[in-house]
Amino acid sequence: MTQTNSKPAVVSQAELAKQQQYIRQLQQMLPKLYTSPKALVRTFGCQQNVADGQRLKGMLLQMGYTLTTDVDEADLIIYNTCAVREHAQDRVIGNIGALKHHKRRHPDCIIGVCGCMVQQPHITQRIQKSYPHVDLVFGTHVLHRLPELLYTTLAERRRVFEIPDMDGVIAEGVPVLHDGGVRGWLPVMYGCNNFCTYCVVPYVRGRERSRAPADIENDLRQMLEQGIKDITLLGQNVNSYNGGISFAQLLRRLNDIPGDFVLRFMTSHPKDCTDELLETMATCEKVERHLHLPVQSGNDRVLQAMNRHYDRRRYMELIQTARRLMPDIMLTSDIIVGFPGETYQEFLDTVDLVRRVRYHSLYTFIYSPRVGTPAAKMDDPVSREEKGRWFKELCDAQEQISAEICSQQVGKVFRALIESPGRQPGVSQCRTLCNQIIEIPAAPDLIGTFQNVQITAGENWILKGTII
Ligand code: SAH
Ligand code: SF4
Repeated sequence: MTQTNSKPAVVSQAELAKQQQYIRQLQQMLPKLYTSPKALVRTFGCQQNVADGQRLKGMLLQMGYTLTTDVDEADLIIYNTCAVREHAQDRVIGNIGALKHHKRRHPDCIIGVCGCMVQQPHITQRIQKSYPHVDLVFGTHVLHRLPELLYTTLAERRRVFEIPDMDGVIAEGVPVLHDGGVRGWLPVMYGCNNFCTYCVVPYVRGRERSRAPADIENDLRQMLEQGIKDITLLGQNVNSYNGGISFAQLLRRLNDIPGDFVLRFMTSHPKDCTDELLETMATCEKVERHLHLPVQSGNDRVLQAMNRHYDRRRYMELIQTARRLMPDIMLTSDIIVGFPGETYQEFLDTVDLVRRVRYHSLYTFIYSPRVGTPAAKMDDPVSREEKGRWFKELCDAQEQISAEICSQQVGKVFRALIESPGRQPGVSQCRTLCNQIIEIPAAPDLIGTFQNVQITAGENWILKGTII
């Protein structure tokens, strides 16, 4: 199956009605099986997974489950997994293994695993063979079919594995539980066509497909009605959105919806970061003054080996344009240290780029080989210990920059949304348009309001402030 961005496969109304029918059957079945059915959904990994987790919870609530975070009382456990790095995956596998004891104590509990990890055949085979306590495994493309798959597991008392390998679909109208307080996640596109040589995402999330602007607008309006005020538009490459209009045009349309709210987006790919997008950011008052623009490496040979479709010069031009249009913009990035064949000299180009850009913060990762990706077959002569030293060198450089930027914020005034209680009583946490988090003395009843906050201290990367 091949799809273009403008004609994505949308799940039919008939299919969604069928799932609603399964929900009604589960509403009748569950009270006969459990005294008060409780479900636990645990999400690992990125914000897209968080958004998927909110859809899983939305469907489960409709079936009649209440949600719990206590494994011991759960009648259904779903692990919504990540595959992007070995470490993340090992953690999930360890957690799934540990559920063996729970299943022994609660044989009626259904254990399900979904998400990116199980979209890899070698993992599914492993679960099938070595984790017999797992009852239900479903891939990223059939999330909306949870009612049917769960019904089959319970009614037929058998293990269900449903992991189609496909380009992917768009399922509209799946119930969502927005449980992030004043923050909400809004997927605008799915999948990835870029095939960066190190990355597993295109294999487990399918091809790029964009939602229709009207569907996104409807979701946004509903979120606003529910009191959500800080909305992050999501996509693996959010700025390659193409729903008949460009991502910049989509941002402008959403910005024009009446209401007091903030629009964020992630993750942007430098190759799709157009001047139109930066100009739109600069002129839309609700759009964040923060750009997460993963560079991955500061060396052209490595960037090419990674298949990133930009070079260092182009990346630096984008940063300059962003800063020219928005002098107050905060920049963040992802970096991979120790890509196969990377030399220390090439790594130093990355450190140099980091020093020139002066990011607010960085997400740094040591390269992790992923089964089936081209990079996993490349020569990788540098030892893990050596990569660990480079990693520390990069983190030290960034720590210094972050601390400097943090202390430079003292005295500045920002409009910020008070979003959650802080770590101590009487303290709340607020977030600026630049995506900085500030701790302020404020009562919880101010949560959900926008306030002008002056920064009073900036130490150890924690900003403190007061409402003025
Ligand atoms: N689509 C986004 C991010 C996807 S994954 C983008 O292109 O920027 C998030 C981050 O994980 C990536 O930016 C990359 O820095 C890191 N990552 C992905 N695969 C990795 C691997 N095999 N090893 C180490 N880090 C990896
Ligand atoms: Fe992975 Fe590259 Fe796609 Fe990001 S753009 S998800 S890093 S393949």
